[in-house]
Amino acid sequence: MKYEMVAGLETHVELTTKTKIFCGCTTQFGGDPNTHCCPICIGLPGTLPKLNEEVVNYAIKAGLATNCEIPEISKMDRKNYCYPDLPKAYQISQYDKPLCLNGYVELSNGRKIRLTRIHIEEDAGKLIHSHGDTYVDYNRGGVPLIEIVSEPDIRSPEEAKEYVEKLQLIMKYIGVSDCKMQEGSMRCDVNISVRPEGSDEFGTRTEIKNMNSITFMTKAMEYEFNRQVDLIESGGKVEQETLRYDEVSDTTSSMRGKEDANDYRYFRDPDLVTIQVPREKVEEIRKTLPELPDQKLQRYISELEIPENDARLLVKYRAVAEFFEKASEGTKTPRTAANFIIGQIFSILENDNAKEEFDIKVSAENLNALIKLLDEGKIKMNLAKKTLAKMLETGKAPSELIDENDMGSLDDAALTELCQKAVEANPNAVTDYKNGKVKAIKALVGFVMKNSRGKADAAAAEQKLIAMIE
Ligand code: ADP
Ligand code: MG
Ligand code: ZN
Repeated sequence: MKYEMVAGLETHVELTTKTKIFCGCTTQFGGDPNTHCCPICIGLPGTLPKLNEEVVNYAIKAGLATNCEIPEISKMDRKNYCYPDLPKAYQISQYDKPLCLNGYVELSNGRKIRLTRIHIEEDAGKLIHSHGDTYVDYNRGGVPLIEIVSEPDIRSPEEAKEYVEKLQLIMKYIGVSDCKMQEGSMRCDVNISVRPEGSDEFGTRTEIKNMNSITFMTKAMEYEFNRQVDLIESGGKVEQETLRYDEVSDTTSSMRGKEDANDYRYFRDPDLVTIQVPREKVEEIRKTLPELPDQKLQRYISELEIPENDARLLVKYRAVAEFFEKASEGTKTPRTAANFIIGQIFSILENDNAKEEFDIKVSAENLNALIKLLDEGKIKMNLAKKTLAKMLETGKAPSELIDENDMGSLDDAALTELCQKAVEANPNAVTDYKNGKVKAIKALVGFVMKNSRGKADAAAAEQKLIAMIE
């Protein structure tokens, strides 16, 4: 029998507000252990939390960017569990009245992954196990999180990957999180079940906790899918449980049986007032949304006539998209800027991280100036490429690198003269060409290009040379 994967993701995203969710402590990553703490975020008796309004604004922004509804009333609840990373023995989270409901994220295959909800909560501290002892660092305790819960609409590891990448990109574009999985500012729990293809009932699910890399997440899903299928095929039953994934052995193993909501004894946090979200506030936040990655992609393709694959590469990194828009402004065709960026500039940026940071010496204004020289016919493409290479090394403006003498193209007489020189200086190439070695003409064209300092039109030079020799 053939089986289908069914998955739903719970994605935790750390918000980049300056201060924590219920106190004034910094949210900065790192720092000496327990230095970003105060009596409130370590849960000392007698302290009271106060909700940071910025957290609410960020979460609403995230909800609007993912097509959610924002209810007028929301509240905070206590999720009780006892573990040393949680000094109060409860986490302040949201249970039945989250800030955002019923959104979706659309994949490139046109499928919509529905979002059940987005709620806000506080992060827990971090346990460090060392030399047989356990230490606790509460710097992360109280850092604001949003949890984005999807419906079980995901059907493959590829869809899960695209879904997570899409969320990452959206959150970065709207500036609510840096979504660095390796630093833990984005983490996913993957719920997964299988069912016979064609069936519309759900199977029993397992939950793989705390995935912090997309590569490992897809591997874990692959493994867990096969494990469940094998189990069912051999007459067994999938148990609902919480799993951990081991990267080294590429297997999942049981952490604990599945807890359900009752185990957490959720109840309204009596220390915090009801959150009222006036409609005007929602509209105000909506106005602050930038153009989102999907909208940009569509505009690049249909208005700027950038080929789809190139457009995807440009919108994949926010800094690149911004650079491209400035560099192409007022030029004849935006494709020229796109080609320079995806070709010459990307070739010096080794990996995703480098492209993400986009720390290059050339300013968008200078690339724009270079392209305008091309547009006006003052320089030819090969000189433009050489100049860009120098710009990337030195950070200089094109006007500092291109000599007045290099500007403007050669007139016909000058080109003829150079071609004659080429023929005289390269008798061997001329003989070769006459003897049928067609490629020998390239040596002559090369001579012309070099001696014109790149100003000659290579195709025109070739025609002229052939005419001269024959
Ligand atoms: P809990 O609150 O116990 O974590 P939820 O019902 O809120 O459970 O679901 C958590 C996640 O599990 C959601 O992302 C949801 O889409 C997903 N999910 C629920 N049922 C299934 C299933 N049968 N197979 C795969 N994923 C599921
Ligand atoms: Mg869960
Ligand atoms: Zn604090």
